[in-house]
Amino acid sequence: MTRRVLIAGNWKMHKTTAEARAWCRAVLDGLPDPVACEVAVLPAYPLLPVVREALENSPVRWGAQDVSAHEEGAYTGEVAARQLADLGCAYVVVGHSERRAYWKESNALVAAKARKALEHGLVPIVCVGEPLEVREAGEAVAFTLAQLEGSLEGVEAPDPGRLVVAYEPVWAIGTGRTATPEDAQEMARAIRDWLARRYTPEFAAGVRVLYGGSIKPGNFAEILEGPDVDGGLVGGASLDATR
Ligand code: PGA
Repeated sequence: MTRRVLIAGNWKMHKTTAEARAWCRAVLDGLPDPVACEVAVLPAYPLLPVVREALENSPVRWGAQDVSAHEEGAYTGEVAARQLADLGCAYVVVGHSERRAYWKESNALVAAKARKALEHGLVPIVCVGEPLEVREAGEAVAFTLAQLEGSLEGVEAPDPGRLVVAYEPVWAIGTGRTATPEDAQEMARAIRDWLARRYTPEFAAGVRVLYGGSIKPGNFAEILEGPDVDGGLVGGASLDATR
């Protein structure tokens, strides 16, 4: 099964509406025709209408950085999957390591968010990845697969195109340290093998597994060479549309 490379830019808590518009303009201007891979941008919630207006009818898609596990109701500060779907979102990140670390999000909550996203036709990008001490102890694969198992509890995607897994080692996020292409491939492979056991080999063969963590124009091509690495979740480097 062929998997289309996905490059998703996670803006985190950056950009104003004017900056978001300028970014979209610059990206659309620089986009080759046809585009070889799928490009998506993940802005903060208030920027979604602006990004939608700028990118509608273009090959670039958009999504959100998080979603509520609840359907709707009295949940101050939360944003519902149906609201994101209403804004034309294709993707939503769940379980980013910053959410796990600063807001103490558990695997169970991440799985509930992924299920809610799928219910509303959004593709969850489920993030997993080990902290430095775990990698140094040689337990990165076991840790990451356990996290994945918890984060996919009860998650049934109708087809493999509706699920994305992002391997983001915590020690590589925003630090300038990147996993080696070999480490990224090893983990992507382990994730796919696990998906084959949890779902079916056919399903696993169609799920895109991304790498994230200090991706830059200078190291991305190398990381993408891993046969199981299907793209990247890009933080810092995605802020500048001209790179
Ligand atoms: P970074 O962030 O590219 O700035 O390391 C990646 C991410 O958090 O998704």
